[in-house]
Amino acid sequence: KADIVIVGAGHGGAQCAIALRQNGFTGTITVIGREPEYPYERPPLSKEYFAREKTFERLYIRPPAFWAEKDIAFVLGREVVAVDAAAKVLTLDNGAGFAYDRIVWATGGDPRRLSCAGADLAGVHAVRTRADCDRLMAQVDDGIRNIVVIGGGYIGLEAAAVLSKAGLRVTLLEALPRVLARVAGEELSAFYQAEHRAHGVDLRLGAAVESLEGKDHVTGVRLADGEVIPADAVIVGIGIVPAVGPLIAAGAHGGPGVVVDEYCRTSLPDIYAIGDCASFACAYAGGAEMRVESVQNANDMATCVAKAICGDAQPYKAFPWFWSNQYDLRLQTAGISRDFDQTILRGDPEKRAFSVIYLKDGRVIALDCVNMVKDYVQGRKLVEAGARPDPASLADVLQALKDLAP
Ligand code: FAD
Repeated sequence: KADIVIVGAGHGGAQCAIALRQNGFTGTITVIGREPEYPYERPPLSKEYFAREKTFERLYIRPPAFWAEKDIAFVLGREVVAVDAAAKVLTLDNGAGFAYDRIVWATGGDPRRLSCAGADLAGVHAVRTRADCDRLMAQVDDGIRNIVVIGGGYIGLEAAAVLSKAGLRVTLLEALPRVLARVAGEELSAFYQAEHRAHGVDLRLGAAVESLEGKDHVTGVRLADGEVIPADAVIVGIGIVPAVGPLIAAGAHGGPGVVVDEYCRTSLPDIYAIGDCASFACAYAGGAEMRVESVQNANDMATCVAKAICGDAQPYKAFPWFWSNQYDLRLQTAGISRDFDQTILRGDPEKRAFSVIYLKDGRVIALDCVNMVKDYVQGRKLVEAGARPDPASLADVLQALKDLAP
């Protein structure tokens, strides 16, 4: 039995345990995680770790010894498969029961799988865990030549950048008419499309995958028009499915994601949920119910819950930010651009340093800043303040964004 059981040993789970101790929690804490590793950073899996610029040991969120020092227990390589919220017991995949006072559910999501024929062939990879990444890297070490990336979101684009830099022949297939369509405006999509093509990626937009070809191991990707693109390996980066099955089965409100209130409480007693799997009314998206998949959101929700457990409950209102590294480009985003009705381009994409500013009803709601750290730092203040600057001033690079705050 533990006073707090944290389910999921990823970003949110680790941060929640850390924040509980930082806020003076003296009860017992057990973190149950499906992966065999102590908590590690996920973003480098498609960046520095994948590019072999960082070893796995450098990805640990804390050195493994830290957890024992803080009296935080771990059960690793085990999955929680059921929750009995009335009896306050959860069940592990080995059948063992585990009693709790409170649960923090921080399970992230599982990679969405292709539904077409061939989706299960060897050589078809997701990039979510260290194990996924190691399997893929082992294939790259075998000297493969052709790789197809399915999905033009951040993970697919980052993986394509690393692989093309490593000299592989990379084809990137995006079903929609532009990459990053769900998360960014057209200006940013057009810029990254041009960058990837300039780096030799064969980028296909509006590409419908019919099936994956091969007997045991994938050999190609068949498109709806009949073309077969040769593939020694395929990376599927088409989003995640929140890992909330046991909670929903226990009666928690939710659909894709478990619904939480402003204190990250699910509808089940004494069960909180945080991070990628939690759906909440986002203050920076006009109160729209959504999930936010970012390290920022996982960490800040974790801290919010830890404080609430320690008697300092405050509604979750943390400012959303995100980043992506591709080639020598550092993208930093502030705010949530969803539902924008106007974009302003600031700077020149040809110079590879610019920002896209998103407005709604004249208010700055988000920024995407490419190699523009100053805009990012100053622009997020505009979002926080709900500023309505004159669009011409926003577009003028000689005009510092900090001077446009109300
Ligand atoms: P996770 O970190 O995914 O942790 C959840 C853990 O719970 C996993 O280990 C999972 O196996 C485990 N689990 C699931 N179900 C169970 C169960 N039933 N029982 C026990 N354990 C369970 N975000 C950024 O902000 N910037 C980036 O640049 C960025 N790049 C990324 C690159 C990649 C390749 C990936 C995969 C993600 C990236 N993200 C990035 C997103 C970021 O990593 C996630 O938003 C963050 O990890 C979410 O934290 P979490 O705690 O909600 O889930």
